[in-house]
Amino acid sequence: MRIDILTLFPEMCNTVMNESIIGRAQKAGKVEIVCTNIRDFAGNKHNKVDDTSYGGGMGMIMAANPIYECYKSLYNEDEPKPHLVYLSPKGTKFNQAKAVEFSKLDRLVLLCGHYEGIDQRVIDEIVDEEISIGDFVLTGGELPALTVADAVCRMLPGVLSEDICFEEESHFDGLLEYPQYTKPAVWHDREVPEVLLSGNHAKINEWRRVQSLEITMEKRPDMLKLENLSEKDKKILEKYHKNNI
Ligand code: SAM
Repeated sequence: MRIDILTLFPEMCNTVMNESIIGRAQKAGKVEIVCTNIRDFAGNKHNKVDDTSYGGGMGMIMAANPIYECYKSLYNEDEPKPHLVYLSPKGTKFNQAKAVEFSKLDRLVLLCGHYEGIDQRVIDEIVDEEISIGDFVLTGGELPALTVADAVCRMLPGVLSEDICFEEESHFDGLLEYPQYTKPAVWHDREVPEVLLSGNHAKINEWRRVQSLEITMEKRPDMLKLENLSEKDKKILEKYHKNNI
């Protein structure tokens, strides 16, 4: 898969994407991440990419044409148009299901706005969807783009050591993850739950499922969809519910 990030701050994006797991995945050829500077497509002597807002108002607006030319430079006319996502506080809220959906694309282009945003006409002309990372406003789309790119990359085959690394994680199957522990077995008089030391994998799996259900019930009851749960899961929840009344 190739991910393009269109930004005024390519170094910021490269620095993050070249580190740790995603950096290693790039070196191993599991994903290609290309950060392109929109300013290189300014098309004027002073490399100016923004201007004042028609109708007045504070702040500058990123002009349509540099963004358009930057995007067009990424593919040939005879190639399919890569899916273009504009990171925007007005977009659909990003989640794990979206990360999985994007990870199935051959190419994904992430467009970062800055200042007060970008000219609506280029959004209307080239953007396929708008994605928000939450109900707050950041100074630019770089952190949202890096967030999306990170979440997508770790879904790609071979990026994590095993697929089970993400299959058991929070949000993958509509539940939050069970608690995790590492050595030592006792820390500050706090013991690791005994079942985890038992070596009995069936019991450990059952304990983890119960924990996941209870934690989701406690912290994010809005996530629980009864129709997706097995009869066994429903019994666990019934028990939990009775104990908490
Ligand atoms: N004036 C815009 C508004 O009120 O919707 C906000 C512009 S914001 C200061 C500048 C850029 O940051 C946006 O163009 C967008 O790319 C990015 N951005 C800010 N908050 C975001 C969020 N919650 N999710 C995704 N992108 C965001």
